[in-house]
Amino acid sequence: MSLSLTVHCDVSWTFGTCGRFLPTGTADPTEATAYVTRQGWEIRGTGADRCPGHAHRPNLISPLARIHHTTTEVTS
Ligand SMILES: [Zn+2]
Repeated sequence: MSLSLTVHCDVSWTFGTCGRFLPTGTADPTEATAYVTRQGWEIRGTGADRCPGHAHRPNLISPLARIHHTTTEVTS
């Protein structure tokens, strides 16, 4: 059995919480962060992670914004 980190969206509002989560498939925090960042998540640390629907990005579709926020991505 292998360990795998899972990120959870921590956004909450009057009627509840988002509750969205994403298994990363890795136990390495650096790899996990890189993976979920590629999926559009915003990782800020404990209690402040954001799913793609809640990430505070000016424009998720903008190619420039994507490049700016995925500088740690490994493309091979
Ligand atoms: Zn969310």
